[in-house]
Amino acid sequence: MKCIYCNSEVELTSSDIITYAITGAKLTKSFVCKTHNTFTNDNYEKKFVADLDFFRNQLGLTTRDGKIIQYKADISVDGTEIHNVKLSNRESLYAPKDVVAGTDSDGNKILMAPMERLEKISKGKAASVNMSDVVVHKTVGSNDFIGYHAIHSMAKMAYEWYCYVNNIEEYRGEYREIIDYILGNSEQEIVDIIVDGNYYGMIDQLSEIGTNSFFQYDDLDGYRYVVIDFWKTIAYRIRICKSPNGCLKNAQVLRIKLYLYQIDGCKTQKEFGILSLMANKQANFKAIRPKNITADIWGIFANRIGKIMSTMVLSIHILKREVRNLSTKLDKYDAGEISVTALLGFEENNIVTTIDILSQLYLNKDKYDMTKTFNQNLPIVLDLHSDTIGRTQGDKKKFIQLLVDKDKDNELSEYIWNGINFFNEIYENEMNLSK
Ligand SMILES: [Zn+2]
Repeated sequence: MKCIYCNSEVELTSSDIITYAITGAKLTKSFVCKTHNTFTNDNYEKKFVADLDFFRNQLGLTTRDGKIIQYKADISVDGTEIHNVKLSNRESLYAPKDVVAGTDSDGNKILMAPMERLEKISKGKAASVNMSDVVVHKTVGSNDFIGYHAIHSMAKMAYEWYCYVNNIEEYRGEYREIIDYILGNSEQEIVDIIVDGNYYGMIDQLSEIGTNSFFQYDDLDGYRYVVIDFWKTIAYRIRICKSPNGCLKNAQVLRIKLYLYQIDGCKTQKEFGILSLMANKQANFKAIRPKNITADIWGIFANRIGKIMSTMVLSIHILKREVRNLSTKLDKYDAGEISVTALLGFEENNIVTTIDILSQLYLNKDKYDMTKTFNQNLPIVLDLHSDTIGRTQGDKKKFIQLLVDKDKDNELSEYIWNGINFFNEIYENEMNLSK
């Protein structure tokens, strides 16, 4: 084994082929020397990932040692805008252990904390705000996704993934161009963004929010490409080398093997074909340079990215983690230590969605088939057509009202425990099925 960037045989280190911070599915191989591993990490990946903290938190990804990811967002409280506030969840706003700090539009520092604490700091200059009206928002910046660090990280992942699936374990001359690009020795642009409606229609059928999908193909232009579909938001197309086979210009069907790396750690493969409706012409993808992405096109991508905020990826492992959090809170609620508002996480997306799913599972428990897996049961039990659950704000509000009413009637605890207990049965069953 040699370094795929320089053929060095010394100090080979394990490289995260897919940047660890953007996936639950680890993919590593010791085919990069220490120098080049450090180079890509320090120059691109660390910066790329730091810009994505908000989305990583929403997707339920954690730090390497399993901690919740902190992120910065803007909040409006009672008519006051506070920018760049560091948060780990909505709850940290309501019961802050530390003072919540941000800036106003002019860059002046704003602090938020319980009044008695603030008065000590501000010597009586603090004003009170109504916490019942807090909105957390995040502007989706195109630079975070198609800027310099993002596209160089994509080129690195594409090249290493290509070497990985094709068992390439050394540097070869035909990859000079992409290696020069990754190592910053060339400005030759090799990363495009796919802007093809047919492509996104297809991937939407095959992938889920948070999944990274990779495939390789030979294009009509005589080059070989790797496509990285990032979290089902944007697809990057990276030029790897000249197509070794020439390209099959007369074949109308383009056969593709899609490798999916899911947020819960699963790795799967799916095969599909794309048919060109033009006679004797291979299907291909319309792609443009990142710098040519207009505001209109970016609006479409921002919309796809926005789905991360309103979607919870449903896998038995993610749900197990959420149920564990919920059980801890429910114990406190039962003991009278926290209110219904705190139990519901101040309407935090995942907690309410988890209770929603648990109650649906419990209501439909007769339909659950214990000989099948959780994900096979989902479409039947929850009447879903994919592995994600999305609810409109209106649905959510109605559901929260139902929970608040149950709290008044002293029925809430039992209602949620029924769901939790049934889920734990399902979880145990799933562990037995996978033995
Ligand atoms: Zn090297």
